[in-house]
Amino acid sequence: MAVWQKARFTAIIKNMAEKAIPKVIPIRIDEGKGLTPSIGAQLTAPHGNTQDKRGRILRDLRISVTDRCNFRCTYCMPKEVFDQNYPYLSHEELLSFEEITRLTSIFSTLGVEKIRLTGGEPLLRKNLEVLIEMLAQVRTPDDKPLDLTLTTNGSILRKKAAALKAAGLQRLTVSLDGLDDAIFRKMNDVDFPVADVLDGIAAAQEAGFENIKVNMVVKKGTNDHEIVSMAKHFKGSGVILRFIEFMDVGSSNGWNMAEVLPSKEVIARINAVFPLEAIEANYSGEVAQRWRYVDGSGEVGVISSVTQTFCHECTRARISTDGQMYLCLFANEGFDFKTMLRSEKSDLEIANAIMNTWAARDDHYSEVRGSHTENQSTRSRKVEMSYIGG
Ligand code: SAM
Ligand code: SF4
Ligand code: SF4
Repeated sequence: MAVWQKARFTAIIKNMAEKAIPKVIPIRIDEGKGLTPSIGAQLTAPHGNTQDKRGRILRDLRISVTDRCNFRCTYCMPKEVFDQNYPYLSHEELLSFEEITRLTSIFSTLGVEKIRLTGGEPLLRKNLEVLIEMLAQVRTPDDKPLDLTLTTNGSILRKKAAALKAAGLQRLTVSLDGLDDAIFRKMNDVDFPVADVLDGIAAAQEAGFENIKVNMVVKKGTNDHEIVSMAKHFKGSGVILRFIEFMDVGSSNGWNMAEVLPSKEVIARINAVFPLEAIEANYSGEVAQRWRYVDGSGEVGVISSVTQTFCHECTRARISTDGQMYLCLFANEGFDFKTMLRSEKSDLEIANAIMNTWAARDDHYSEVRGSHTENQSTRSRKVEMSYIGG
């Protein structure tokens, strides 16, 4: 582990230990981070057919552009942990726009067609539209642009929407956990109003975004009574609402199975008011299961990573804010591509390192979640979602 990493992790652990917060599990991301990817002895020409140990190929990449956020959603960055003493990454530790673009170009030679920028709150990364412009120039081997999308909490979307669109961003997902202002303010824990997120979505529509999705994390007992009103609000608007099961990502959100509302219950509640029928996935590996309103007024989706796992078709890799490649949202080990990018390694060598890393992948956390959540030592090591990207 590099010296800066040691200092940072010691500070994180000290910060959490000092808080001694009930329900919060001490995070231990000081281990297993920064593995050196293997380039291999013989270099192979880049190709998009590398299968992992479970026969899955690499198709999507999520890139976290910042580990910071202006919200403190209780299920993601609880205030007690992510306070002013939290050791966020410094600017030098972040991948630069040039490094992100180079890495993306290399990934595109390996079959990656879809890029999602995330965080933290990606719109907090200064000049993000410049990065989008750079990424919009990248072409796949058959000369197609990448499918470029971004997930945001929507808080500064009114200010940014037009610039994002002009830079070449194609799609947008906005997170919103309900329409009840008091509940939403409590869930984001910074007193942010619903109206401003809705205004951000309106700004995106005005800027010409057509494929807007809204993500709602459902926590049983907290916002599950908002399901039908959210469905009613977005029905017929062209916006696709997706309900996400509350997940045990990271190690600080006090996750508890009793707070997970199974997606089939979400669908049953909407169906009782607005009849739904199941529809086919858009493509293999799509994480959301799709349902459409029988009256033709649009669709909703559910992402059931707890109750109906989809590891068998998971074609996704993640790049953390500081250039570590993670093979699973619930991983505790990352592969250090930042060091590789900052060394003299060629694109071909980096491509081989990515192919080798992917070929050795065996991750399928959601399928074995039960055994992990029962085992405190395994459970305590997952990296935070704000760092790895949602
Ligand atoms: N800040 C941006 C946002 O909130 O949209 C992007 C990053 S956020 C980590 C990406 C997505 O992960 C959001 O839709 C958020 O609601 C979701 N998320 C965060 N923590 C989660 C959890 N514990 N369970 C389920 N989804 C979660
Ligand atoms: Fe921030 Fe998004 Fe996490 Fe909420 S879910 S704290 S908005 S990164
Ligand atoms: Fe993919 Fe890991 Fe999620 Fe399974 S648990 S779907 S392998 S990210």
